[in-house]
Amino acid sequence: MKATRSAPTSGRTTPSFWKTTPLTQMTRAQWEALCDGCGRCCLQKFRDAKTGKVTYTWVSCYLLDTCQCRCTDYGNRTTLVPDCLVLTPDQVPHLRWLPITCAYRRLYEGKPLRDWHPLVSGDPESVHRAGISVRDKAISEVHVHPDDVDFYAIGYRI
Ligand code: SF4
Ligand code: SF4
Repeated sequence: MKATRSAPTSGRTTPSFWKTTPLTQMTRAQWEALCDGCGRCCLQKFRDAKTGKVTYTWVSCYLLDTCQCRCTDYGNRTTLVPDCLVLTPDQVPHLRWLPITCAYRRLYEGKPLRDWHPLVSGDPESVHRAGISVRDKAISEVHVHPDDVDFYAIGYRI
């Protein structure tokens, strides 16, 4: 299972729109701007067939530039990576595997954005400095044999 992510954007939006605009009423630009660029959702995961519990690994989708923490072909991602889901407001409540730091999840749960979120800090680097992103941590799946992915399982919830 791969994941869904949006692309950080510099599109103009209403200041602090995330405090007043419900997820379902955001413009496309606002929705895209919510993504903090952490890249966590681009990590491979396992779902336990019995418990449904999802375990993240440090192995990332091959399209993720692990140094820049960016999708290298965002416009064509759903063609190139068919299981890269396009996140929509109606899906957020059902995607329990979204990281606990994910802005979409936090707002859905009624929580504020953290101070390291680029929308709050005004600096796209803040998510990396805070150690939230997978930049320079993830290992591209091109370097890992499929049988060895579970070796990179993350032992804590992200
Ligand atoms: S986990 Fe959420 S905030 Fe982070 S990259 Fe994915 S969609 Fe964006
Ligand atoms: S296609 Fe892009 S957005 Fe989708 S999981 Fe891969 S790197 Fe992430």
